[in-house]
Amino acid sequence: MGGTFDPLHHGHLVAASEVADRFDLQRVIFCPSGAPWHKTTPTTSAEDRYLMTVIATAADPRFEVSRVDIDRDGPTYTVDTLRDLHEGFARAHPHDSAEWFFITGADALTEIVGWHDPDGIIERAHLVGVTRPGHQLADPGLPEGVVTLIEIPALSISSSDIRQRVSEGKPIDYLVPEGVARWIRKHRLYADRQHSGGAS
Ligand code: ATP
Ligand code: MG
Repeated sequence: MGGTFDPLHHGHLVAASEVADRFDLQRVIFCPSGAPWHKTTPTTSAEDRYLMTVIATAADPRFEVSRVDIDRDGPTYTVDTLRDLHEGFARAHPHDSAEWFFITGADALTEIVGWHDPDGIIERAHLVGVTRPGHQLADPGLPEGVVTLIEIPALSISSSDIRQRVSEGKPIDYLVPEGVARWIRKHRLYADRQHSGGAS
């Protein structure tokens, strides 16, 4: 599951958990983006986003966090994420094979055909599109059989709203895991108003 995770919130966790359950996944690998090519506003440092993702997922044995996108220079393209994950898996488990899925919310799924090398993406992972409040979940015209659409419990939470709330001094309790809220407070993230906008 790729994302900016600025910050990771309960919408991300529910999406990951539901897809893991439906597809009986052994692991969900969260991949915080490096420099997101489609994001216009200033973002929090990759290390802060990475660490908040680690804090949020640490207790769940199915969840792990990968640095592939953070450690690669240049803009993050999902096709590179998948290629690096495949290569890492092949190096670590030379005699095993794996089935790969890429989890997206309804908003990201609509955009996927406009991403860099969509054919490369669908060659490397089966797409799973999940419902997200405020967005229509639909196959964006992908070839037959490459995407599965599933309904998940609706959480109307977005990172941009969380950034906005923090900048306005509103609470974010119960929208993000407690450790993430504490990290945001401790490092005074999003206190500056310019961080608030820019959904991706
Ligand atoms: P921003 O508001 O900054 O764009 P976001 O909440 O959309 O943040 P991202 O990091 O952009 O979070 O999203 C990563 C992935 O998680 C995307 O595929 C997105 O569609 C999905 N996602 C995010 N929030 C939800 C949610 N509440 N329900 C379902 N899917 C979600
Ligand atoms: Mg987004």
